[in-house]
Amino acid sequence: MRGARGRWLRGVGHLLLPPACAGCGGALATDEGRVCAGCGTRLRSLPYPRCARCSTPRGTGVPAGRECPDCGEWPSELVGAASAVVLAPPADTLVHGLKYGGWPELAPVLARRMERELPGLLERVGPDPLLVPVPTTRERERHRGYNQAGLLAEALQRRTALELARPLERRNGGGTQVSLHRSERARNVAEAFAPVEGAGAVVRGRSILLVDDVLTTGATSAAAAGVLLGAGAARVGVLTFARALPGSAEP
Ligand SMILES: [Zn+2]
Ligand SMILES: [Zn+2]
Repeated sequence: MRGARGRWLRGVGHLLLPPACAGCGGALATDEGRVCAGCGTRLRSLPYPRCARCSTPRGTGVPAGRECPDCGEWPSELVGAASAVVLAPPADTLVHGLKYGGWPELAPVLARRMERELPGLLERVGPDPLLVPVPTTRERERHRGYNQAGLLAEALQRRTALELARPLERRNGGGTQVSLHRSERARNVAEAFAPVEGAGAVVRGRSILLVDDVLTTGATSAAAAGVLLGAGAARVGVLTFARALPGSAEP
C-alpha cells in the first residue's frame, strides 16, 4: 500500500492494532521506536578486520596496505565510509519497511544506531560536517511521500545539531539496481546526480557527510561525492544505516 492512502490506512491501523515490531512483527510493549529489544540485539555491526577507509570487512589474511577493492577507485577526497549494521535479518526488513513499507517512523530508530559511528567518521571527515542526504528522484519521492535518506539525515540532525542541506538532485532513477553487475551499476549512477542551483555557495570549502540507508558497492556514494567535490566541497564521508556485504539479500 503506497502513497497518502496507504499512510492514512496505516495510521488508522496504528490506532486499532497493538503496536508491532517492524523487524519481526511481534507485539511491542510500547509504541516507542517500532523495533523490539530482541530485534535490536540481532542487529550486527560490521565484523573486523575492516578497511580503515571504507569499513568493508577485509577478512583475515589480507596483507595490510594492499589497495582495497571496494574503495581503491574512490576520489581521494572521499575520505571514509561507515555503516551501523550488516544488511542481514532483521536490518533488511527494517530498511525495506523504511524504504517501501511506508514506515517513516523507523528513521529515528535507525539514526540512533548510525550515530554510534559518527565519532570515528568525524576523525576522518573533520568536525562539524554538513549532513547531505543522498537524493532520490522526484518521482520516487512523490510516490513514497518522502526520501528515506532525507528522513535519516533529519533524524541525525535532531540528535547531533549538525547542519543539514540538500545541494544534490537525482536526475534519473536508472531503474532498479538489483540485477545489475557492479560495473553496470557504476555506469548507471555516474550521471545520476547534479548540483542544485546555488549548491556551490552551500558546500564550498565544507566537509560533507553523505547520509543514505544502504551502502552496496559504493558507486552511488562515489558518484554523489564526485558532484559535491566538483561543486567545491573540501572532503566527503559517507554514513549509512546498513552495509550490503557479498551474499547479503538486497531489500
Ligand atoms: Zn522484533
Ligand atoms: Zn576500502
